[in-house]
Amino acid sequence: MKLCSACLLGLKCRYDGKNKPNEKVINLAAKETLIPICPEQLGGFSTPRKPAEQKNGQVITEDGDDVTINFESGAKQVLALAKLYDIRSAILKQRSPSCGCGQIYDGTFSKTIIEGDGITTKLLKENGIEVLTEDDI
Ligand code: SF4
Repeated sequence: MKLCSACLLGLKCRYDGKNKPNEKVINLAAKETLIPICPEQLGGFSTPRKPAEQKNGQVITEDGDDVTINFESGAKQVLALAKLYDIRSAILKQRSPSCGCGQIYDGTFSKTIIEGDGITTKLLKENGIEVLTEDDI
């Protein structure tokens, strides 16, 4: 059993109200239980919502609003779910400010990629939970 970014499984939970279905992830869901999670929705955001990126340890929308607290709240909810089911592994969407693993956008909204983890990924890793991306499947 693994946690999985809901957008990779085809749920329309992204900031733009769309999904990001990944065939390999969906095929995997036929073989093992993947629990869909969207940390941003769990953090209290509606869908669609303003795009946000990490910058200097905070998460900022394109309009300059600091939404770090929502991202941290969503991450804590995901961790609580992982603990409830004793889940040791997650497949999360690469480059998202919540779900990215090893790569995120740089906070300039110019599609520039830098090294870093999403807020949820960071918290899961700190708690010993393995994080994979759709690229690792
Ligand atoms: Fe997908 Fe994660 Fe963004 Fe939710 S927060 S839309 S699960 S990448």
